[in-house]
Amino acid sequence: MARPLIAISMSSTSRTPPRALLNDAYVEAVQAAGGVPVLLPPSLEAAARDQLLALAGGLLLTGGADIDPALYGEARHGSVTVVERGRDDFELALFERARALGLPLFAICRGMQLVNVALGGSLVQDIPSCVEGAVQHAQGNDDRGDACHVVRLEPASLLAGLAGASTVATNSLHHQALARLGEGLVVTAQAPDGVIEGVDFPGYGAWFAGVQWHPEERWRESALDAALFRAFIAAATR
Ligand code: MN
Repeated sequence: MARPLIAISMSSTSRTPPRALLNDAYVEAVQAAGGVPVLLPPSLEAAARDQLLALAGGLLLTGGADIDPALYGEARHGSVTVVERGRDDFELALFERARALGLPLFAICRGMQLVNVALGGSLVQDIPSCVEGAVQHAQGNDDRGDACHVVRLEPASLLAGLAGASTVATNSLHHQALARLGEGLVVTAQAPDGVIEGVDFPGYGAWFAGVQWHPEERWRESALDAALFRAFIAAATR
């Protein structure tokens, strides 16, 4: 069977010269699971974006900078220093287009936050200063594949089914999280401090998984993280 094309959203930077970026880990994880990565920079014009999405079997929304709080009607918390509004708008369009096409969607970290905001939800702008008793959610950059905290999985959720367990250890590289839940989203995973770590979207119309952690950094160590990429690629193959 042909390997499915997987559209992967890239981050951008406003530094000179403007450029698009993507961590190699996403490319490696998609390839290892049997997909062919197609990288989508936010500078793509709408027609090219839609043409590439129409060829793809699935969409992967990736991690990155904080989403502009103006998109959920809030002023910026002091910790929100880098905002890439061009990327925000690009990925909101990707999400709507993928939803219209019924494309399998894997939303990782910022990607899950993006989906939440697109559906009318809001974000915790800074976990350390906004969540009392929060566990450590920002591990060091050098140990991105290590476990950081445990996550409790909702029984009968996609995540629990793939894990074959009710709790798993995950890495954690975020200072924001979901606050008000977007319309149609269901919480499937939580950290011990209540921070939302996973969501499902039963009304999406195709395979969907949202996780706050970074399975692309840990699929070699974590059976759940490897199973997530395999399930995503399998859905994108159909
Ligand atoms: Mn976390």
